[in-house]
Amino acid sequence: MMEISGKKISVIGAVRSGVGAAKLIKKLGGIPFVSDSGSESKLKESIEILKKNNIEFETGSHSVNVFDCDFMIVSPGVPSDAKVVVEAASKNIKMISEIELAAVFCKGNIIAITGTNGKTTTTTLCGHVMNSCGLKTYTAGNIGTAFSEIALEVKENEFVALEVSSFQLDLIDKFKPKVSVILNITPDHLNRYGYKFENYINSKLSVYKNQDAGDFLILNKDDKTLTDSLTKHDAKDFYFSLNEKQSNGCYFEHDSVIFQKDGKTTFACLRSDINLKGEHNLANAMAVIAAAKLFDADNEKIVSALRSFQGVEHRLEFVREIDGVKYINDSKATNVDSVWYALRSFDEPIFLILGGQDKGNDYNQIKDLVKEKVVKIYAIGSSADKVFNFFHSFVKVEIKRSLEEVVHAANNEARENEVVLLSPACASFDMFDNYEHRGKVFKEAVNKL
Ligand code: ADP
Repeated sequence: MMEISGKKISVIGAVRSGVGAAKLIKKLGGIPFVSDSGSESKLKESIEILKKNNIEFETGSHSVNVFDCDFMIVSPGVPSDAKVVVEAASKNIKMISEIELAAVFCKGNIIAITGTNGKTTTTTLCGHVMNSCGLKTYTAGNIGTAFSEIALEVKENEFVALEVSSFQLDLIDKFKPKVSVILNITPDHLNRYGYKFENYINSKLSVYKNQDAGDFLILNKDDKTLTDSLTKHDAKDFYFSLNEKQSNGCYFEHDSVIFQKDGKTTFACLRSDINLKGEHNLANAMAVIAAAKLFDADNEKIVSALRSFQGVEHRLEFVREIDGVKYINDSKATNVDSVWYALRSFDEPIFLILGGQDKGNDYNQIKDLVKEKVVKIYAIGSSADKVFNFFHSFVKVEIKRSLEEVVHAANNEARENEVVLLSPACASFDMFDNYEHRGKVFKEAVNKL
């Protein structure tokens, strides 16, 4: 057990997980000190909470006081090459992530969900399905509530569907989920991993490093990067696949999801029971079905939960239909892989809104799909020229200055039975506060039409 009482613990980063960690440390009798290099005005909400809880903090920069501690919690948003992290390492200060801390004090079963894409959707769906089946499940992690906020509440026979990013996994030590789910691994965030894909892969794979033979590992059989990279582990494997039968896990056959475990086959649901578009969401749902079935969830209840799930905002979210033209908000598609899945989710011709802050995108992956499905691209943001240069020789591309301009143009140009899809493949920070802001601006423009 980690000793907290009386210990001085510095928390780097004062946003959701940092504030949650500091509150947990305080509750456990430790002495947290929160330090964030951001300005006071940007951290207003956090500061209020810290003050209310009598937690010491500093903003604007990291002073030497942060090194006067027994160990450090480093928030996922703090880059691994940040000066404060490098200096702490040189002083041999132990650094852990917030999920490591919270997990130690959580009595319930952790279902840790990681992968490049689909974490939020799958974690939310997992919480919805498990709760509908009477298995009390908290959802936490990268989404909504920090794990530290709820860790002490969770009882032994309860669950936490935990969205886990690679940044959180970089600083785990004894973190040991009952179930680990790895949805997929494609290149992303390489700037945080020395531009080496293998470093990013290893970060994702570390989710299972402490699991033992009583634990479960749910894996995407169709993801070759993942299956080729798997290292030796003790957890029992379960797979999900859209393409092949699995002896332990979920697979898709004749429009049905089938679950198989220890030689016993059970029908799980029909494709049409899963109220989400796209084969990627079928895969996400299969991961959830496998997890729920491992805890003997009732099949009928699983099906009715799948039917009632409404999806998550900004992920292939249907906004409105005007004169037969559907407007779709997929603002959370911040990499090329998620756009690939978005394009495959529609049979209709597509007006695609692409661009924003580029993360080293290679558009070759979607070239053929764009040729096949896209009528026109509206390029936006700081990478609009890159988008134009890559695509203009084989599809119409027009550069636009704002999403409002795009929506007006699309409203004039798109015809009945066509789709206008915001799935930008880029981060949003060049034009917006975040992807939620980008999605909201798009929806507002559409709703004003
Ligand atoms: P994350 O939390 O990992 O970023 P989200 O559920 O927020 O994942 O989805 C992010 C984007 O990826 C959305 O555009 C969504 O439609 C797409 N997506 C969801 N699941 C998958 C998947 N399994 N594979 C590829 N893309 C996916």
